[in-house]
Amino acid sequence: MIPFLDLKAQYQSIRPEIDAAISRVLETSQFVLGEEVAAFEKEFASYCQCLHAVGVNSGTSALHLALLSAGVGPGDEVITVPFTFVATIAAIVYTGARPIFVDIDPVSFTMDAAQIEEKITRRTKVILPVHLYGQPADMDPIMEMAGRHGLVVIEDAAQAHGAEYKGRRAGSIGDLGCFSFYPGKNLGAYGEGGAVTTNNLEYARRIRILRDWGAEHKYQHELKGYNYRLEGIQGAILRVKLRYLESWTEARRRHAVRYNELLAESGLRTPFVIPYARHVFHIYAVRVPKRNSLQKALLARGIQTGIHYPIPVHNQQAYSDLGYKPGDFICAESAADEVLSLPMYPEIGESQLEEVSESLKECGCVGFNH
Ligand SMILES: *Cc1c(COP(=O)(O)O)cnc(C)c1O
Repeated sequence: MIPFLDLKAQYQSIRPEIDAAISRVLETSQFVLGEEVAAFEKEFASYCQCLHAVGVNSGTSALHLALLSAGVGPGDEVITVPFTFVATIAAIVYTGARPIFVDIDPVSFTMDAAQIEEKITRRTKVILPVHLYGQPADMDPIMEMAGRHGLVVIEDAAQAHGAEYKGRRAGSIGDLGCFSFYPGKNLGAYGEGGAVTTNNLEYARRIRILRDWGAEHKYQHELKGYNYRLEGIQGAILRVKLRYLESWTEARRRHAVRYNELLAESGLRTPFVIPYARHVFHIYAVRVPKRNSLQKALLARGIQTGIHYPIPVHNQQAYSDLGYKPGDFICAESAADEVLSLPMYPEIGESQLEEVSESLKECGCVGFNH
């Protein structure tokens, strides 16, 4: 049995430090925010090459508050992609704004910057690219377009801790960056967590207030806020894990290179890494026409895989009121039909990489003709 993800292996490798960190919080009783969270925020900001990081209780909350801090509300439009986890779109809808989709680039799976301009209206406030699978979107044309039209750029970096675009860290390129610390993410808490990064002090101040009931001083509510605070135990755990993140990321990148070699003759399409990118391989997705039958055949051999994501958001029932229809974003739709995420985590071994690759070849995957 080869799991898609193995969180237990990672815990076992750092157990004494994690247990000590949790004990520290239990001793101080700083269960919500507190010193561990404040220290983590400083360390994570520095890791992201940003001035500020604000811890919140999920990646979804990070997106919601980033949008609110940028002044997004009812009547506004936010340009994003349909090929993402649903949270990206949910957070936009929470603010009362309307998500406007542009298709993805079929090779990188990230926002096709060439399609943005035709979608900009008087109502557009934000461009929200997603660094899908751990590979940064092509940020230069996005930033150029935003500058020309006076728009704010918010990076959905929930899958891209430590990823780089032309040497700059994800979350430091746009006006705001949003991270998730969901357990399975590259930097995962032992529960829910998230953060917003920014170099803008005013955005950071507003997000700090909004996550804690809109009050900088207790019971003086300056803004209509939320209970989106990061827990002390998660802050302490994230501080320990942040110290290992670079070595874990390098392990993921080595595994990706190894998969590429092992699958070179397989007929499968392996991930394309754009030359400007440091891809951090949150997901290692191959592309294959008969994806669903291949996934079943692998499972029968004890190999777990994932699909990120089987239905693009514009075709989801919950968002049918946005007025999109099948066929509107063909690159997103064909990616959704063909991507298959292989087991990928820092602790996966060479023999497992070989077994997955051998099984893929033996299951007679049908290759592309072009
Ligand atoms: C995980 C994820 C989110 C949401 O983060 P949560 O911590 O689960 O709320 C948002 N966007 C993307 C692209 C994600 O992968």
